[in-house]
Order: sequence, then C-alpha cells, then structure tokens
Amino acid sequence: MRLRADVAVVGGGIVGLAQAYAAAKRGRSVVLFERHAQAQGASIRNFGMIWPIGQPPGERLELALASRTLWQEVLPAAGIVAGDTGSWHLAYHADEANLLREFAAIGPAQGYSCQWVAAAEVLARSPGVRPEGLLGGLWSTTELIVDPRVVARQLPAWLAERFGVTLRYGSTVRAIELPRVETSSETWEVDQAIVCGGDDFVSLYPELFATSELFRCKLQMLRTAAQPGGWKMGAALAAGLSLRFYTSFAICASLAPLQRRIAEELPEYDRYGIHVMASQMPSGEVTLGDSHEYGEEISIFDKPEIDDLILRYLDGFLRLPAPAIAERWHGVYAKHPSRPFFSGTPAPGVRVVTGLGGAGMTLSFGVAQRSQEN
Ligand SMILES: Cc1cc2nc3c(=O)[nH]c(=O)nc-3n(C[C@H](O)[C@H](O)[C@H](O)COP(=O)(O)OP(=O)(O)OC[C@H]3O[C@@H](n4cnc5c(N)ncnc54)[C@H](O)[C@@H]3O)c2cc1C
Repeated sequence: MRLRADVAVVGGGIVGLAQAYAAAKRGRSVVLFERHAQAQGASIRNFGMIWPIGQPPGERLELALASRTLWQEVLPAAGIVAGDTGSWHLAYHADEANLLREFAAIGPAQGYSCQWVAAAEVLARSPGVRPEGLLGGLWSTTELIVDPRVVARQLPAWLAERFGVTLRYGSTVRAIELPRVETSSETWEVDQAIVCGGDDFVSLYPELFATSELFRCKLQMLRTAAQPGGWKMGAALAAGLSLRFYTSFAICASLAPLQRRIAEELPEYDRYGIHVMASQMPSGEVTLGDSHEYGEEISIFDKPEIDDLILRYLDGFLRLPAPAIAERWHGVYAKHPSRPFFSGTPAPGVRVVTGLGGAGMTLSFGVAQRSQEN
C-alpha cells in the first residue's frame, strides 16, 4: 500500500507536536514519527512551565505570548488539565527586592503583565511560601503549568483524533530523500518534512548540525509525590537565583549588584548554573530543579551535590507539607547561543527546527505558527 501525507514530522517532542498541530490546522495531512514507544526527551523531563516572564522583551516575549495563546486553545480541546497559575518571584534580600521593584516599574511598558506585591499579601495568596525574611514578590499573570507527561500522552492522541494525524511511535526515521521518508519499517511519500529531533545531532543531517552552533545543556530535576489532602501551592515559584538566570531581568540596572553578591556568597550555585524553581502538577506532585551543565561537562552520571544545593536553597523559600523526594532524573536540551531557536534547510522541502533551549515548552507553538507562515 502506498503511504502518503503532505507533511512528515520527525520527533514526538513538544516541538514536533506543535509543528504537527500547526500543519494539521492548515488542512495538511500529517504523519508524525517518534522513534520511542513514548517520547522520552526533554519534552517529558521538564517543569511544564509555560513561562513568558522569563523571555527578554521583543521577539522572544512576543513569541512566548503568542505561544501561550495557542496553548490555551489546545489544552481544553485536548482535555489536558493545566494550572493557569501565574508566577511569583520572591525576594528575601534587599537587592532582590530592589530588582523586582525596578522590573515591576519598567516591565509593563515592555509587555510584561506584572506588579510588586508586599510580603503579607504574597503569604495570603501562596500557602507554601516561607514567611521568615520575606520582603515581597513580583506577581506575573502569564504563566501556565502543564504536566509534561500528560501532554506527551494526550496531545498526540488528540491530534490523531481531531485532525487525523497519523502517529508512528516506535518508528525511527533513518533517511529523507523527498518525496521519500524511510523509517525502520516503512517508506512514506511526502511533500515536506519537518525534522524536530531535539538534541539528536547525529541521526539525520549531521553536517548541518556541525555548523549550526547548537550545543547541549544538562539539567537535574526532582519531584515529590502528590501533596497530601489535595494541598495546593498555587502559582509557580522562583526566587533570587532565577533573577540572574532569566534574561528578562537584564533590563534592570539593579541586576549587577545582585549577580555580584550571589557570585561571592554562593559560588557553588554559579558553578553548576543552579537556579531553583517549583511548579505543582495538576495532580499534586511538585516538580523542582534545576542546574545547567554544558557541552563537555555533561556526564551520564548525576551529581548528588547538585540535588542537595537545590533542596537547600528551596528550603529558604518553600515549605511543603510533604517535601520527601519521590523521583530524580536529568534532561538534556539543545540550545542556540544567540537565536530563540535553530531553523535550517538541509534539502529542498526539508526543514530542521530545534534548539529552543530552556524555553521549548514556552515557545514551541509560537515557533510552529511562525515557521509555517513563512
Ligand atoms: C529538565 C528540563 C526542564 C525544562 N523546563 C522547561 C520549562 O519548564 N519550560 C520550558 O519552556 N522549557 C523547559 N525546558 C526546555 C524544553 O523541555 C525543551 O526545549 C523542549 O522539550 C525541546 O523539545 P524538542 O521537541 O526539540 O526535543 P525532545 O523533547 O528531545 O524531542 C525530540 C524527539 O525526537 C525524537 N527523534 C529524534 N530523532 C528521531 C528520528 N530520526 N526518528 C524518530 N524520532 C526521532 C526523539 O526520540 C525525541 O522524542 C526544559 C528542559 C529540560 C531538559
């Protein structure tokens, strides 16, 4: 039997799923290939944070907000429960409060929906936040939380049911010579191929990746069991360390003294690129992380000291009813040094899209919409 589709998407991570959605919505017939029985890459290992507040103003913030709108279209349609939680960045040091106040003053004009909130109100709205030493927090309205494991399962099923996307899980694409796409067990004919292989730079088009400037980053993560009694954390939480991590905060003149203090007081956090965040899954578990190790530093073996540093810092701003760690893992993503994502055309009709870095959940739908408009 002749196997045919308008578009082949390679990769069942969030980038591939978003590309499949954008193509199917435009009336194209789509086949999606994922080499594992279930996606196992960065898209299932992350916090599930759709996090516009972390994107710098301009192109990336606009992409993130466009992406968020698309998530809000997809999630209810696909029956995926999400937390429309917003986020807190908490201040426990004067330099953190200075920076967050400055951001609250200048951010809204640049497109951020946020405000500075006094400590008493933060505590009233967020039951897990540690009160001792809290100076206040930046409230942002735009953040959503999804459980990536649920998204990886339900989103493709919905694409198949709603748009007739053909799913080929457990199917590795080993060659693309349009119109032919060859997998481990089939040959398809397509007009266009979109390759979203995440951090796999070797299976297809290794020469393109060799010149792409893409690099890898490894992150260690932890998760508690579901909190007891239906306890809700509310908005996702970040604190001082994240202020030196997200480039959105680089618009603030008060960033430099904060960076200097952290470098002097907490050098081990800089050494492993640690910033600490917490997001509660709709089913009650709290996901915690993370660290950043790059290129040659990446080892298959995890570092217990990184987990200890994350948990020690977390204890300074979050008290969970049941803090015991139930799961630990790491994930690896691909990142481009200067662009929000990498897009290349290794052959006519073939587009490679990857390298969304630590913002793939935040940006994927916006990237897919934009790349299929062009
Ligand atoms: C620990 C961690 C936490 C993160 N937290 C967040 C967050 O909270 N918010 C956020 O916005 N971003 C976050 N990110 C970033 C985000 O997860 C990634 O940017 C995103 O998941 C990358 O998606 P992807 O589809 O490119 O890659 P992947 O998820 O790795 O998917 C690529 C898929 O392609 C498949 N594949 C590759 N080659 C082939 C082939 N030849 N044939 C068939 N299949 C193939 C692979 O099996 C894989 O499933 C985090 C990342 C990590 C690692």
